[in-house]
Amino acid sequence: MVVCSKCNRNRAVIKLRSKGIYLCERCFKEYFMDKVMLALRRAGVLNSLRGKKVLVATSGGKDSLNALYVMHTLSEDYDVDVKAVLINEGIRGYRELTIQAFMKFCNALKVKSKVVSIENEYKFSIDYVARAYLSGLINYKPCTVCGVLKRHLVNRIAVEEEADYVVTGHNMDDEVQTFLINIVRGTVKNLAREGILTGGVLGFVPRLKPLYYVTDKESLTFFLVNKFETPIVECPYASLSLRYHIRLFLNELEYKSPGTKERLLELKDKFRASLSKLTETVQLKRCIICGQPTTREICRACEIVLQVRKITD
Ligand code: SF4
Ligand code: ZN
Repeated sequence: MVVCSKCNRNRAVIKLRSKGIYLCERCFKEYFMDKVMLALRRAGVLNSLRGKKVLVATSGGKDSLNALYVMHTLSEDYDVDVKAVLINEGIRGYRELTIQAFMKFCNALKVKSKVVSIENEYKFSIDYVARAYLSGLINYKPCTVCGVLKRHLVNRIAVEEEADYVVTGHNMDDEVQTFLINIVRGTVKNLAREGILTGGVLGFVPRLKPLYYVTDKESLTFFLVNKFETPIVECPYASLSLRYHIRLFLNELEYKSPGTKERLLELKDKFRASLSKLTETVQLKRCIICGQPTTREICRACEIVLQVRKITD
């Protein structure tokens, strides 16, 4: 039996390769929550969390359900009003399964929840977008459309719910992947934007990432030791995205050189701090179609919707 390196007593449930230590269930849960509290402290929200309204945007996957669980746990100490939303992209054979897991999870925690459908809101599904992309009718990849529309919709719901924060389940792996994607694409302004807490200007409800310092492996372990359940399914369109290939590359690097992801996250935060001083503050205005904040006349979501509707009409 491998014993916990911290308490030297209980059976270990995880090996943290970058630190060369093993942790048992109890010590791991403490370690996990310490990372969550560190993220909330560094975001500067911990002292002002009391009485706030939080909308947790979930996919029904392990990370966003973990995020919902930790916010629910904190809601008792900090008197936070927690609600959850899941956006149904309309991806057959994938989304139906996670919606069930999401509803069950919310019922168990007694958290108010809602499912909102992209197809109802925008009159086309991501399955439709994927077919159109694969047959050369549009240039937008399904993940691009899906990501932009989900952010657009979640922000609108958060405004309607008068939420102070939108909480997401982005973990360290997601953040480092985004960092590399921005480097590969040369999108420097985006590098300056991504952090634990973003938004909060002119109609952008601040987005908070409590799992910012938690690795994908730690998130999976937390989910399993708490005996949470959700189907292990991957979206059929994930492999069409650049993120998918960056994820494989990063996992290989992490395996060969443990601690790579942590070091890249530190680098990202240093970049972000120096870049935010250099990049000018962008002037936001309201989209002339939907009224959501944007730097252009028509926001990216409305621009995409107009393009896709051209081929559906
Ligand atoms: Fe949407 Fe892409 Fe995620 Fe699938 S993998 S749910 S298409 S963002
Ligand atoms: Zn718009």
